[in-house]
Amino acid sequence: MSLPIPPQRPSMCPRQASSSSFADAFDDARRKLDEMGVQEPGEDEVLSPSLSASSSATDVSAATAGVESPSPLSPATPTTVPITPMVEDVADNFAFAFDIDGVLIRGGRPIPEAVEAMKVLNGENEWGVKVPYIFLTNGGGKFETERCHDLSEQLEIDVRPGQFICGHTPMREFADRYGTVLVVGGEGEKCRDVAESYGFRDVVTPGDILKANAHTAPFRKLTDKEHANSRDLLARHGAEKLSDIVIEAIFVFADSRDWASDLQIILDIAQSKGGRLETRSETFDEGPPIYFSHNDVLWSAAHEHARLGMGALRRIVETVFEDTTGGKKLKTHAFGKPQVSTFEFATRLLQQWRATQHGLRQTKPPATVYFVGDTPESDIRGTNAMDAISENEWYSILVKTGVYQPGTEPKYKPRKLVDTVLDAVNHGIRREMARLASGKDTGGRILPLNDVGLKAVAEGQSPDIEGQDSFLTMA
Ligand SMILES: [Mg+2]
Repeated sequence: MSLPIPPQRPSMCPRQASSSSFADAFDDARRKLDEMGVQEPGEDEVLSPSLSASSSATDVSAATAGVESPSPLSPATPTTVPITPMVEDVADNFAFAFDIDGVLIRGGRPIPEAVEAMKVLNGENEWGVKVPYIFLTNGGGKFETERCHDLSEQLEIDVRPGQFICGHTPMREFADRYGTVLVVGGEGEKCRDVAESYGFRDVVTPGDILKANAHTAPFRKLTDKEHANSRDLLARHGAEKLSDIVIEAIFVFADSRDWASDLQIILDIAQSKGGRLETRSETFDEGPPIYFSHNDVLWSAAHEHARLGMGALRRIVETVFEDTTGGKKLKTHAFGKPQVSTFEFATRLLQQWRATQHGLRQTKPPATVYFVGDTPESDIRGTNAMDAISENEWYSILVKTGVYQPGTEPKYKPRKLVDTVLDAVNHGIRREMARLASGKDTGGRILPLNDVGLKAVAEGQSPDIEGQDSFLTMA
């Protein structure tokens, strides 16, 4: 028998039929939120990089959930109650999704509790149950297969591309929309290679433009290797002059390695006549669309303090565009967390992963997805926003091993605040087991409950889900 599905919360917005692509989903999600009068996170607004600022009026869920303090453990005597076996020892009713930097990895090394957390999900828990999980990072700049290989070694598990989304993964679904595109960011030619593997047909890099006109960025000189790797734009396009070449869209795939020259080139094209290189618009409203793979202003790296991320470049692009065009506004787009469309993309990936890896082929998504992150502005905000519009529950858990500074009030409130990813995993599994124990179906599997929890179940009560630690044996 499978886990009983807990009572569904009232749906604020009935789930529509799945979109066929991320590009469609991106548009659908924006339309849906417009209809609801909800501003999608990260769009059309300037976010403060401050971690301690008060909640924004656009936070659709922070008001509904406060930060929980860890519940005091009950000293009551441990005992057990039988509960239902699960299909092939796989939890079919809930799943986990993880941010990576600051949650599992920091500065290229695994956070100590992360390896243990993965073991718990893979069945090394007191119930012997495996829990499906995926990874959802805003980072990028490598092929998904390469990042999965790295993660596999770091976490001592086998991570597959089928359970992995990085910042630029959804961009693959835009490959058919545009011909010539500018791809920015990453090491060397890597992001061009990734973009071409996604199916983009004509990928121009800032290096190509600097090679064609070295005066583009006065203080940037290509190295011999960069010059050799960069393409001859005129020859490739059969053009006589650069203004014959039209950039149809700009994609910032990964963090810029040279902000000054990349900023200059992005702004040149944003202010061009319809994307034509080396031209200047008179109206400053005809540049091509600009997409950033995410919007994180800060991220957790090896340094003691959080480092500037792509979201900072996005703000600079928009601000300087306005400053240099007499006040014209530049509208750019961001994927990644906290965009709801990225979480919808994750939902589809999770469904595929549950079906192919765990044999869970039912059409319903898991009743609850626990999302574990370290950045309130992207991880928690996005999870809460997804929860607000989704039929199933998206439950945000904030850890203290990354961007979030313990002791401060997070701008976007998680459902649960814990020390490490291991605490997050244990919290989610125990919460599910407490739910299970509170249901009617209790034959089979053994669930350790303390006397308080047992009494509640015996009396037909539902354990207090949010404070359920006090019902469980914590041995
Ligand atoms: Mg992070």
